Parts: sequence; C-alpha cells; structure tokens
Amino acid sequence: MNILFMGPPGAGKGTQAAAIINEFGIPHISTGDAFRLAIKQGTPIGIKAKEYMDQGLLVPDDVTIGIVGERLQQSDCEKGFLLDGFPRTLSQAEALEGILSELNTQLDHVINLKVDRNKLLARLTGRRICKNCGATYHVIFNPPKQEGVCDIDGGELYQRSDDNEESVGKRLDEYINKTAPLLDFYEQKGLLRQIDGEKEIDTVSKDIVAILRG
Ligand SMILES: [Zn+2]
Repeated sequence: MNILFMGPPGAGKGTQAAAIINEFGIPHISTGDAFRLAIKQGTPIGIKAKEYMDQGLLVPDDVTIGIVGERLQQSDCEKGFLLDGFPRTLSQAEALEGILSELNTQLDHVINLKVDRNKLLARLTGRRICKNCGATYHVIFNPPKQEGVCDIDGGELYQRSDDNEESVGKRLDEYINKTAPLLDFYEQKGLLRQIDGEKEIDTVSKDIVAILRG
C-alpha cells in the first residue's frame, strides 16, 4: 500500500497519519525524517545534503529527490509507505513516478484531507500561551477555565505574532496555491481521494481506512 498524504496545515494530518500507519503497518515517511536518517547513516546523498544545510543553503531538488528515493528503497518500505511532505512541486511528482517505476511499484492512493479555509484559520489562530509559565491553550480544543487567564498561575494568555490571522492566512494561501497543480496531476491519474477532514477525528480515520481498504 503506497500512499501519498496531503492536506493543509491544521487539517490534522499528523493524527491521521499515525492512525493509518498503525492500521496498515507501513512506515510514515516525511522529508525531514528521511533527511535526518540519510545524514545519520552518512550515505553519499546524505553527506551532500548536509553540506548544503551546514552552509545554510537551500537543498536543491535533485538532492531532495535522491534522499526520498534512497529512503523508499529501504527494507521497511517493502510492504508500502505513507509519504508526507513530498512531492511539493510537479517536477518532484514526476521524479517520484520515476523513482517508483525503478522500484517496480507505484502510488496506490493520494489522500487529501479537506478542511474549509475559515475552519483552518480558526484552528490555527486559536493557540494562546501563558506569559508566566509558557503553558499553551487553544480557544477551541483546550480552553482555559477563564478566558485569557492561565489555569496554573493566573498569568495572562497571549497569542504569538505568527499565529495571527494575517500570517496564518498567508501560509494557508501559499499552501493552497502551491499544491493545486499537484492535486490536478493526481486527479488526472485517478489517484486522488478527497477526505472530509472536518468530521470527528475517529470518523475521519474510519473514512480513510475504508477508502484504502477499497
Ligand atoms: Zn501560566
């Protein structure tokens, strides 16, 4: 079962990814983890990646593709994988096709978690932090007993500047614009499965599993 997992920040991708890998016994592969592993193992491409990162340079596409390719060849991916955070562009998507065809395999499903933009904004801007002790709250998911006040020490709660509506909205729009061509690409290949990510967490997991079990 080779799965590509997509969805905007705040859609609950991490939680759902955990449910899927648990259900199917496949590894969760994020680009970040793949980089850390390649660097730790000191593979040639890992060494190359580290050189760019140490210099604070952007890692070029061919290196990122190489790292993902190397990761997908490891033995724990024989039964499949859940790929997350890659590809981000059409050229990476095409490179992924090449990698998988060399491994005599292909993507089975592209899961896209859909959540309305306004709901994402509410989720992502709801975090509040205590000025005294740093405890975190969420106005929807984990509200303090008294609005704006820390349960632990009565400290004032504040919102981080990058959690405000403007920055979060910008981040969301960037994500949406960047991934639209990818969603079209996989739609045309008949691989795209749209999942309603606004339902209860358990219901979303069940919906995903039902689609994957087909
Ligand atoms: Zn506090």
